[in-house]
Amino acid sequence: MGRRIRVRGQVQGVGFRPFVWQLARRFGLTGWVRNDAEGVLIEVSALSEGFEAALRAEAPPLARVDRIEASDVIAAPCAGFEIRASGAPGAETRVAPDAATCPACVEEIFGTGRRHGYAFTNCTHCGPRFTILTRLPYDRAQTTMAAFDLCPACAAEYGDPADRRFHAQPIACPDCGPRLWCEGAEGGGAIEAAAALLRAGGTVAIKGLGGFHLACDATDPAAIAQLRSRKHRPAKPFALMAPLEILLRHAAPSEAEIALLKDPAAPIVLLAKTPGLPEALAPGQATLGWMLPYTPLHHLLLAAVGRPLVMTSGNLSGEPQVIGNAEAREKLAGFADAFLMHDREIARRLDDSVERITPHGPMVLRRARGRVPATLPLPAGLPDRQVTGYGGQMKAALCLSKNGQLLLGHHLGELNEALTWEAFLQADRDYAALFDHTPEAVACDLHPGFRATQHAEGRGLPVIPVQHHHAHLAACLGENLWPADGGKVAGIVLDGLGLGPDGTLWGGEILLGDYHGFTRAAHLAPAPLVGGDAAQAEPWRNALVRLDAAGLAELADRLFPEAPRALLRRAAATGMNAPLSSSAGRLFDAVAAILGLYPARQSFEGEAAMRLEALAGPPEPGYPMGTGTQIDPAPLFQTLCRDHAAGLPPATLSARFHAGLAEAFATRARTLVETGAARAVALTGGCFQNARLLDEVLTRLQGVPVLIHRATPANDGSLALGQVLIALAQLEST
Ligand SMILES: [Zn+2]
Ligand SMILES: [Zn+2]
Repeated sequence: MGRRIRVRGQVQGVGFRPFVWQLARRFGLTGWVRNDAEGVLIEVSALSEGFEAALRAEAPPLARVDRIEASDVIAAPCAGFEIRASGAPGAETRVAPDAATCPACVEEIFGTGRRHGYAFTNCTHCGPRFTILTRLPYDRAQTTMAAFDLCPACAAEYGDPADRRFHAQPIACPDCGPRLWCEGAEGGGAIEAAAALLRAGGTVAIKGLGGFHLACDATDPAAIAQLRSRKHRPAKPFALMAPLEILLRHAAPSEAEIALLKDPAAPIVLLAKTPGLPEALAPGQATLGWMLPYTPLHHLLLAAVGRPLVMTSGNLSGEPQVIGNAEAREKLAGFADAFLMHDREIARRLDDSVERITPHGPMVLRRARGRVPATLPLPAGLPDRQVTGYGGQMKAALCLSKNGQLLLGHHLGELNEALTWEAFLQADRDYAALFDHTPEAVACDLHPGFRATQHAEGRGLPVIPVQHHHAHLAACLGENLWPADGGKVAGIVLDGLGLGPDGTLWGGEILLGDYHGFTRAAHLAPAPLVGGDAAQAEPWRNALVRLDAAGLAELADRLFPEAPRALLRRAAATGMNAPLSSSAGRLFDAVAAILGLYPARQSFEGEAAMRLEALAGPPEPGYPMGTGTQIDPAPLFQTLCRDHAAGLPPATLSARFHAGLAEAFATRARTLVETGAARAVALTGGCFQNARLLDEVLTRLQGVPVLIHRATPANDGSLALGQVLIALAQLEST
């Protein structure tokens, strides 16, 4: 009796078939393995429990085995064990995310073999994937490596199931693969020339996996200042790259943080700042974003420089990252003194992912390179149908459902920017073509002004509009595989802004609901958002209206003597360009402004709130907030201002603010669970990127089942996911 074994998960393009081949030989089994639309299919001549256990236990580093199903079959006799071609054309439907250079390849580039010093070394366990893919199935001819013919040595490795490079589609060597050069710097090889310039304080544009970076010496304040002034980027934190041994001289990551840094996804990981590096890298922030070198090019360059490098995205202000050589020369010439580039095209722009480790596990802030196009399983009870979710306006990303999987696409950015909008439209076509996706309906935000909403309405398909914070709640439920009939959850949604069904802007909510619907159980008392968008950029505007509402108008006059207060108050009174908003994000802005952290304009979204988090001292009892379903922050502001006047340190005030906000929402959510109205609490919305707030809320929810984001962002980057889940729930009931 033989066995037929189905392996599901991320098992294509990751060396799974040669792994099975080697395993079968080890266990003395005959039979075959092949890829098909559902994953990997194996037939072996006999039952071997050891073999089946090893499929999961010893799977290759980039594989993710979701499920193994095995049944007895009468196996056709085979002489040996063979790797068969895929079934029907188009059967291979998966591609893995891009993966950081594996230890074996790093050893090779620093060794003496034929790939010594070769910047494009890769194997089945590492290298570019999604960023070079032009079409599925994932095969060299359908990647940007198609232009490079294999030399005999590479061809032999490619064809040998015992080799680490068996069917490694981007396989390359100095004889046959892409070439590296440096424009604008003289002397030695490309790496040496770029390294010398970096050590001398210059800025180099570097072509990476998903786009160009701008790099400079992270230990050199003058180099950093020069890059900041050239990029007109006064304060937004720069990410850094260094090999682990150099990183450890400048940061003290925990074991979990080191594991995340070394993950094949190689995300930027936010690590607590330690003294030593220039403050200008991330002014006023408590953390610095670090990543390890993730391509051979990075490894070689970092080894030659011997210092940590700033690696910030190579783009014009507000625009997406540059990916083409010609585009880089044109757009980055004003920033970079030299260009380190190569002739392997980038098929798809992917920013670096940004993540952090909190006491409660990993947290994703930006989901892109290394994480996409990995899928999430569809929660039980939702129909397996094809829907596209178009997300929101900020931190745009798409989501597709198909074959029981949810594909949350990569971070695109802010859709008001023309080129990002173009990238959004391209991503829509791209994902649909790649995954042969033909949606029967599309989902989008309620906000009619969002470009993604307008795009959804123009598709000529049934449109399912979804309230912004309901989508946040559903995304959190979906990531946690909350079943469709799992019952209602109390969603604490602390966020920037989203349009509510009542026409006001929401953002500090407790929603009681699930995929099928919701009610607004409690919310922050609204305040006018005077000047609309201006209120987002200028925290003092939020402080003024909150102080006025708390009977502290005189204090507001003293705190903001230069501001056009009368104008603002008139607008607030008449409601002219002053929509009401219950946003929690704006509450953070208001407090930051009162503490003098941000009297004028923020230079990027969330800046004031991030500073407030960075400032928070040891835990304190929280400031009081009103009782009832309208959570009135007036008592909070009154107490905070008293403390402020008494000269208490801002660290204490920030700690008390975080605790007070957490207390108000956690108490109400806990009550909903304890009275049986909700089965669990879900924490979602952009404010939950704040690890302090997350911790304060979780502390107050001990003993209650709580769902949080770990693999998807709590911010608007997950809206599309929530929209798709809600749309599926609606389709099911029609
Ligand atoms: Zn490798
Ligand atoms: Zn070769």
